Amino acid sequence: MAELKVAHCRMCGKVFQVTLRNLCPECAEIHDRQFEALDRYLFRNRHATVEQAAEATGVPIRQIREWIRNKKISLSAYPNLTDICDLCGSPTRNGHLCARCSDRLKHDIEKMLAEEERERARKREHTFKMRGEVKD
Ligand SMILES: [Zn+2]
Ligand SMILES: [Zn+2]
Repeated sequence: MAELKVAHCRMCGKVFQVTLRNLCPECAEIHDRQFEALDRYLFRNRHATVEQAAEATGVPIRQIREWIRNKKISLSAYPNLTDICDLCGSPTRNGHLCARCSDRLKHDIEKMLAEEERERARKREHTFKMRGEVKD
């Protein structure tokens, strides 16, 4: 006998029987309709921004961004759609971080690697000295 699995719907919080999606049947239908509406809108308005699309279709901005994030909507097809930076919230069109944050992150990582390298060099030096002492 199959065990009945239930979960809370990601959109309305209602308990429902688990399917492949994290949505109850009603929300899944709304979700599909929203996507269709947005898809149709964008097809006719390739230069729309996320805000304009949200206003015209009634689809929440957060939802549109989620579709952009999981590549259901391709940014390359729509020049004015943007995702937002995970760190500072400013608009970005290349991944999860804006140019400023990804630069800063790259810089931080480089700094960290350089420090690690220095630390390793210091330890190496230390080990050589220790070996020298043992030999004596
Ligand atoms: Zn629901
Ligand atoms: Zn940023």
